Amino acid sequence: MDNKPFIEAYQEINSRFIKLLSSMSALRALSGFEIKYRNEENIITDSLDVLLDYHELDYVAVFMFDEGELKKVSSKCWNNNTTQPPSKYNGLCEQHRDLLAQVENTGKVQQINQIPGEEFAGSASAIPIHASDTLIGVFLACHPADEFFSVTNERNLLIYCNFLGQMIMNNRLLHSMDQMVNERTQQLQLALDEASELKQRYEELSIIDELTQLHNRRFFFPETRTGLAQAIRYKEPFSLLVMDLDHFKIINDRYGHAVGDEVLRGIAATFKAEIRDVDILARFGGEEFVLALPETDERGAMVIAERIRKKIKALRWQADGREISITITIGITEFENCSSNDYVAALDELIQQADQALYHGKDNGRDQFNTYSYIACQVDPDEQAG
Ligand code: GH3
Ligand code: MG
Ligand code: MG
Repeated sequence: MDNKPFIEAYQEINSRFIKLLSSMSALRALSGFEIKYRNEENIITDSLDVLLDYHELDYVAVFMFDEGELKKVSSKCWNNNTTQPPSKYNGLCEQHRDLLAQVENTGKVQQINQIPGEEFAGSASAIPIHASDTLIGVFLACHPADEFFSVTNERNLLIYCNFLGQMIMNNRLLHSMDQMVNERTQQLQLALDEASELKQRYEELSIIDELTQLHNRRFFFPETRTGLAQAIRYKEPFSLLVMDLDHFKIINDRYGHAVGDEVLRGIAATFKAEIRDVDILARFGGEEFVLALPETDERGAMVIAERIRKKIKALRWQADGREISITITIGITEFENCSSNDYVAALDELIQQADQALYHGKDNGRDQFNTYSYIACQVDPDEQAG
């Protein structure tokens, strides 16, 4: 019996099986690629390496669309394990270029079984690289033998190209997702910065008096309590002044509210210029101000009060062709006069004492300062009579 047909059939099946095995091995190697954060060119170059490891090919190259034009991204030669192919492939031959153009036009596999001439003799196959339904590039493979790209070879390479296209697509998606996440993170950061700026602005606004730009009561109380607690702890002196403009209502009544406002702003600027950084100054209400003086005893507070009184008395404004001036009455006390050692209760007590000293000054001609310790030991004439 003639075994020849069986032997030939066996050889054919064997050859196909080996090619299929090579192809599967190449795909398996490709599927192991870690694509995250990799550059597309590296992915393509590595995938060409894998292909040459498992397929007998002379030359392989990948061309990708860049601004609508096919541009070579990477190429490899068998027996020449560098990215630089032999110079004959640098420009490709006319038939290769035709193949690329045909794939570009048809989106389908194109091949040439016999390239005329010596230099590029053999066959070539150009295979589309799709990402979903979009043609994103073309793969070119060359072999020195004529009619090398059989149906099996072509099908295996097509699977490889589909795989490669998917990998490139995944990589692009990852990068664009990364970019999107970065952009969103930046936007979020901007929004957060804006929100915290607004919050800070709001907080500032809520503790700053709009007219005079001095702090208000909301700032004064917690800040002064902290300073007072520290003074109590370290046994340091601590004084408090309550200051009220004299007959301010007359300025409003005579020259109008706007002039009154102007006077209040001038008074505030004078206070600011007279105090230290550690002092706590606030507009307490209409034309009443409060000043806490850490590390300052009653004598020191008296010096500051007198300086402030004189500075304010020397201020001048013009309205309706007339010169305006004003005076201030100040009440002073210090922590030593307090009965409580608790800083919250002590602050209330300090304010009450300074108020009493202030009203004593109002009752006794204004334009002066008085200390609580002084008025407390003055005997009340009514009480004396009783
Ligand atoms: P005294 O010497 O007894 O303190 O007399 P006074 O006129 O200063 O005190 P009074 O409490 O009778 O009047 C305070 C005035 O301050 C009345 C009010 O209209 C005015 N005032 C309060 N806040 C403002 C403000 O923000 N702007 C202006 N222009 N006036 C204000
Ligand atoms: Mg007043
Ligand atoms: Mg007042």
